[in-house]
Amino acid sequence: MLPPLDLHAHIDAGIEARELRSLGAVVFAVTRSLDEAEQALERSDETTIWGVGCHPGLVRAQKSFDSGRFRELVGRTPYAGELGLDGASRVSLEIQQFTLARALSVLQQSPRITSLHSYMATNQLLDVIAECPQPGLILHWWLGTDSETDRALDLGCYFSVNASSVRRRDLLAQIPLDRVLPETDHPFGDKGRGPRRPGEIARVETALARVHNLSTETIRKCTWRTLGDIVNATHTHRLLPSPVRRLIEFG
Ligand SMILES: [Zn+2]
Repeated sequence: MLPPLDLHAHIDAGIEARELRSLGAVVFAVTRSLDEAEQALERSDETTIWGVGCHPGLVRAQKSFDSGRFRELVGRTPYAGELGLDGASRVSLEIQQFTLARALSVLQQSPRITSLHSYMATNQLLDVIAECPQPGLILHWWLGTDSETDRALDLGCYFSVNASSVRRRDLLAQIPLDRVLPETDHPFGDKGRGPRRPGEIARVETALARVHNLSTETIRKCTWRTLGDIVNATHTHRLLPSPVRRLIEFG
């Protein structure tokens, strides 16, 4: 049986390795600054994949972003996140767009499984992507309009949905099953009823199963196949921990 997949969670990079193992899930953990990424990438966890990120809401992370350092860190992981734009941020949109464009141009050379934030800036995010197209882009907690969602699909984007975003059944119905992946966005996207921890994506799988009229087992298999598609398109096999690589081959 394939374990649950979580494409976007916030985890303290100082966490005990056994706590991560006890999650029983494969978790992609974002970082919010290059400093945090540096610390996280010192780790070698078997089922947690640490990303390189620069959160659009963090003034210091945005101001200190350095392309060369980002490129060096990206060389050590298959995952980038989180990056993106945030219309509610104290950082000006110009600075955010400049940072994102530089990050995406590095990733265009070295594609990665990439988790993108777009709160209150969905169309602006798509504009930046259109300037720098590449495989492996996953829009996390997407709140775009129907026509923006169509545009994102045309640009080849994937979507990661959490227990909060699955309440938008129209959105789930609009995204083809082979473009959707589960996330918790722990500890932000898994508020409300039920257990809250990275990798706890049962509510997401149940919602997807209902919309597509499939079993949750089938949904689990589909999401692993989708991850496999992204890994193939971005050529990131060799950068994954070997247990995860085996699960992708198995799935
Ligand atoms: Zn996040």
